[in-house]
Amino acid sequence: MARRRRIYEGKAKVLFEGPEPGTLVQYFKDDATAFNNRKRGTITGKGVLNNRISEYLMTRIGEIGVPTHFLRRLNMREQLIKEVEIIPLEVVVRNVAAGSISKRLGLAEGTTLPRSIIEYYYKSDELEDPLVTEEHITAFSWATPQELDEIVSMALRINDFLCGLFFGVGIRLIDFKLEFGRLYNDDDVRLVLADEISPDSCRLWDVKTNEKLDKDRFRRDLGKVPEAYQEVARRLGILPEAGPTDFKGPKVMQ
Ligand code: UDP
Repeated sequence: MARRRRIYEGKAKVLFEGPEPGTLVQYFKDDATAFNNRKRGTITGKGVLNNRISEYLMTRIGEIGVPTHFLRRLNMREQLIKEVEIIPLEVVVRNVAAGSISKRLGLAEGTTLPRSIIEYYYKSDELEDPLVTEEHITAFSWATPQELDEIVSMALRINDFLCGLFFGVGIRLIDFKLEFGRLYNDDDVRLVLADEISPDSCRLWDVKTNEKLDKDRFRRDLGKVPEAYQEVARRLGILPEAGPTDFKGPKVMQ
């Protein structure tokens, strides 16, 4: 078989040329990095779980009418996606203070925010993804004001939907990061949700115990990292419990 052309290699994923024009194959690695690459490691089985979790969440988000880049899962570690022009922003939605906002504003981790807050970070490894405002984004044409309006409304819709979806399986959605891309279709261009949504890009805490079920276990050396990713998949009903054909759907918590 001809070797596929590698389009881009990131920290946790590789993008290959897809089988048809306008498509790409997104491959999920077990590699994990934190603190702008200063901490590196592997989380066994993470790629397989993130491929499944992201497939599930993107599909559900698609069902509420928010367009995504996701087409279909191909195998354990790969999914077929639409090729988009990535907007160079990490769009972070926060419901509860944690991580960088706690540090920057001196808020105790776990403080519920007065309302959901959206932040933008400019995607640049050299600059370590600096926090930017709408002014920077529009002045430097990273996105137009119209695109930003659409990003805000899509991000808030996704947040409301995911908060409910996770709460139903006993998980609090503390914060998460989204990326958006421009999908070109003849003369038409529209924004779609891109990249991934997984425990790598979300903070997920158990509702009852506040146990962290996300990449903070790796960042902060809390142990049981693969187990946390498995637990998220299990609660979402996408890990077989009794055997490979035992897919039950989301496990609603009492
Ligand atoms: N996040 C991410 N990629 C990044 C930075 C942050 O997916 O490069 C996610 C992170 O997992 C968390 C949210 O965005 O769910 C907010 O992260 P924060 O700004 O608190 O930064 P961190 O503390 O992770 O450095």
